[in-house]
Amino acid sequence: MNYPCDVIRDLLPLYLDGVCSTESRRAVDAHLTKCPDCRAFLADLQETENVAIPASSAGQELKKAASFLGVKKRLLHRQLLFAAAVVTVLLLVIGGTVGLLKRSVQVVEYRDNLSVALTDGDLVGRLRGSRYDRLRIKAVTLDEGQTCLFFCLWDTRWDDLTTGDDVYSEFTLSYAGKGAEQVAAVYYYTGDYAGLETMDDTGLQEVLAQSVCLWEQNSPADETNR
Ligand SMILES: [Zn+2]
Repeated sequence: MNYPCDVIRDLLPLYLDGVCSTESRRAVDAHLTKCPDCRAFLADLQETENVAIPASSAGQELKKAASFLGVKKRLLHRQLLFAAAVVTVLLLVIGGTVGLLKRSVQVVEYRDNLSVALTDGDLVGRLRGSRYDRLRIKAVTLDEGQTCLFFCLWDTRWDDLTTGDDVYSEFTLSYAGKGAEQVAAVYYYTGDYAGLETMDDTGLQEVLAQSVCLWEQNSPADETNR
């Protein structure tokens, strides 16, 4: 049967995709052997679609495989996006927690982690296992005219958690020539510092009872340091 070129050309895309009926395929094949114009048209079509004439079932399988790969690729893409989202959330949580720990300041409790020594005339304090964030210090003159230093330290929860016991944080409590010579004792006190310097004897005795004496004049620790 003879078909006009228009009809054949309408069929060519289906023919290329390998989805037309056996009868149509035969008609196209028969026409193509006789019509160079349609052969050229087919060649153009092939070039633009860049698709080889599928060898029937094998071509279909290839197409299915390609579309399966496409689905798999999209799925993988989605999984990667999900993983990236999870990682981002985790990083935000970790970052937020670290930030919170770094901003969270707490009083350093005395647990054998503090010492004071006279170094080249300076009274130097040492905090072991953390880094001090804030220091509060007050000089109190006792009845006998002796000066005592009371101090308190704050650290961040982050430093408390992350600093090892082999790490020291040092701070100068009183400098040589600027009062260090007059200091009779140094106490660590974490209580209320308001009115400490004008406190009466009874109050001061209470404060001393809650304090830890870290250094006294002529303390043996200084002699070993010299
Ligand atoms: Zn033709």
